[in-house]
Amino acid sequence: MKQKRKIRPKLGEPQRITKAVTHIHLLEANAGKLAALDTLAPAYLALCQRYVTLFCTDERPNKLRDPLFQTPLSERWHRVAIQQAAGIAQSWRSNRTTTYQQYQDDLLRYQKQQANGTLDAKAKEPQWYEWNVPVLRTPCIQANVNVVKLEPSHDSTYDYWLTISTLEKGQPIQIPVKLTAYHKEHLTDPKTHQAKKLNTSVQLNKRDGVWWLTLSYDEEVAVQTPPDAPVVGIDVGIANFVTTSTGKHYGAFHKDLRARHKRDRAKRRRKAKLRACLRKKGAAILPSTSSRTGQRLIRHVKQEINHAVNQCFAEHEHEGVQFAYEQLSAASMRFKARAQNAYLRASNLAHIPRQIAWNSQKRGVQATPVISAYSSQECSRCHYADRKNRPDQRTFRCQVCGFEAHADHNASVNLSRRVGDTQLRACRDRTAIKAVLMKRHEAWKQQHGKEYNSPVKRRRRAKSSSATSFI
Ligand SMILES: [Zn+2]
Repeated sequence: MKQKRKIRPKLGEPQRITKAVTHIHLLEANAGKLAALDTLAPAYLALCQRYVTLFCTDERPNKLRDPLFQTPLSERWHRVAIQQAAGIAQSWRSNRTTTYQQYQDDLLRYQKQQANGTLDAKAKEPQWYEWNVPVLRTPCIQANVNVVKLEPSHDSTYDYWLTISTLEKGQPIQIPVKLTAYHKEHLTDPKTHQAKKLNTSVQLNKRDGVWWLTLSYDEEVAVQTPPDAPVVGIDVGIANFVTTSTGKHYGAFHKDLRARHKRDRAKRRRKAKLRACLRKKGAAILPSTSSRTGQRLIRHVKQEINHAVNQCFAEHEHEGVQFAYEQLSAASMRFKARAQNAYLRASNLAHIPRQIAWNSQKRGVQATPVISAYSSQECSRCHYADRKNRPDQRTFRCQVCGFEAHADHNASVNLSRRVGDTQLRACRDRTAIKAVLMKRHEAWKQQHGKEYNSPVKRRRRAKSSSATSFI
């Protein structure tokens, strides 16, 4: 199952989501007919690529742009290609803009530190490497009803008929669609036992020589969580994809992934060297920067993330709760993913909050994005926030009260308390947030200060309190 999220509705309102049913095999028995689709696909891919390039370079993406290029495709197909290309270019552009913004922030910080003389001896000046325009490799067609029509079948052998217009004018092909029991279950309304109303747009993919169909339908899900439900905080990271304030970890960038990532990085570096070398020699065509193994790795990590988030939501202990998760800013993402390369950091870490939002929507569970600033440095007992509270990636140890915990766990507890924290939300920047936290720390000290003011006592207390649980 794949999904798409629509615009976030207001708190508590039913959420309209589009659910997709993927991997519907287009039947082998029609190999002869599918040949027409095989002929169409490369022409479509080539045309779509030209518009992707156009929309990523010379023009802003425009789904309704007038046809520009020559093609054997019909005008209807031509318009479908333009629409799909505009979508691809749009997301490429916005990803690039975000990354470029990060680079400029980094550069500014670097220059500031340089001017102040506070620059770390090992710090390197941030560099910008221009992004390549996306290259479409495998046929993926996002078709609308103008070119691919989906109709229910009237005899019992098949479930639907797809009518696809081809390169031959007036000679569409008709392909029967037979659903598996699994697909049928998802496409049947459990209450009325009627087939769900499908959206008119479909997606056709060819992978490893086989054509696959993706259908989709819209669904409204009401939020089931009462507003006063207990809040479970979710911290997002790479060592553990998800850590909750209930003290659980889900998913990890584990050894196997780490090893594959390392191999992929080495490969990229070799390729980059080769490109640089060829460029110097004036070669016209350079080897591509994206790799098949790299793409596979990204897909794999995403699956692991999906699995981890699913587990977290399905956890027995988490029944009837609401979630608070960190809205990752570019800065916190960078901080968390320092060990990763740019591509992984951008695509993976950002995938976790997206997946949390999606899970909450489809399950009708409230999940609120909250401010993440200082959540990993703040002490969940006394609110003291300091980088020094983190002696290493895994450990949280408060410099003032001596509280000790798994770093991600401490952060998730902080996040769980930030739902409805209007004081923090009113802060303009990190400096203001830190000031609020330090004020809270002062208030805590007023109340508990005596117990924690001696360093000796502090150390002893640290030992006895390390087993403290939160909820
Ligand atoms: Zn503390």
